[in-house]
Amino acid sequence: MTLATSSLVVGNWKMNGLRGDLAELEAIAETAGACGSVEVALALPATLILAASAAFPTLSFGAQDIHAQAGGAFTGGVSGAMIRDAGGRFTLAGHSERRAGDGDTDAQVKVKVEAARRDRLSAILCVGEDAALRDAGRAEHEVGEQLRACLPRDGDGLVVAYEPVWAIGTGRTPTLDQIASMHEALRRTCVARLGATGGAVRLLYGGSVTAANAGEILALDNVDGVLVGGASLRAETFTPIIQAAQALAARSGRPWQGLAVAGPRA
Ligand code: PEP
Repeated sequence: MTLATSSLVVGNWKMNGLRGDLAELEAIAETAGACGSVEVALALPATLILAASAAFPTLSFGAQDIHAQAGGAFTGGVSGAMIRDAGGRFTLAGHSERRAGDGDTDAQVKVKVEAARRDRLSAILCVGEDAALRDAGRAEHEVGEQLRACLPRDGDGLVVAYEPVWAIGTGRTPTLDQIASMHEALRRTCVARLGATGGAVRLLYGGSVTAANAGEILALDNVDGVLVGGASLRAETFTPIIQAAQALAARSGRPWQGLAVAGPRA
């Protein structure tokens, strides 16, 4: 059982959500308030971060991507300073949908993770294999390589999310043994590259997490939280995941060690 941290439950709304959908956050904030051993964070469309952070100051909000540059002639880009100015406290980097759809390479993802740190945001670095690599038995090797290529020099405040591409939005998940084994390998890599800081990096699992499987996944060694896509869009599917994390934290007696993605407020 991991003893280092409390759980981190992060929702990823992807390209979903208009201002009217922020009403979902009322019940989410209420549940988060009652689940004191769980940190709840939401990666929102950039257009919603300002309104959400103003209306729900007890939740942590962040972006789904960050431009590597601090500012300038980069049409359409959103910088870390802009995310912070809107009340955001973290950003995802290297989500597989951006790697596939926007061509983000490992090298670019690494620069984005470092840009987040420069702009005083926490980074949630996403890594994960596709189905072909899993079927070929090369998942751990390739994800390890991916992680090594994307890790920043300083891992302070870093969160890494293992998200098998074939599990995202499909209703399929790896076996618990596969998740545990991958997370153990990721922990080893973080420690080898970052020393003691690597031991404190929070490792999330993401890919078709629901209320039905969250508890057993969160109970695994080296799983410090979950990254949730589809089920985070509605309070009725997201709040039971927060409650599952809280029930587990209560059972395991994991000590509360403060917010992982809080970062300084803007
Ligand atoms: C995600 O997009 O990061 C994700 C994990 O999605 P889902 O939970 O819908 O599989």
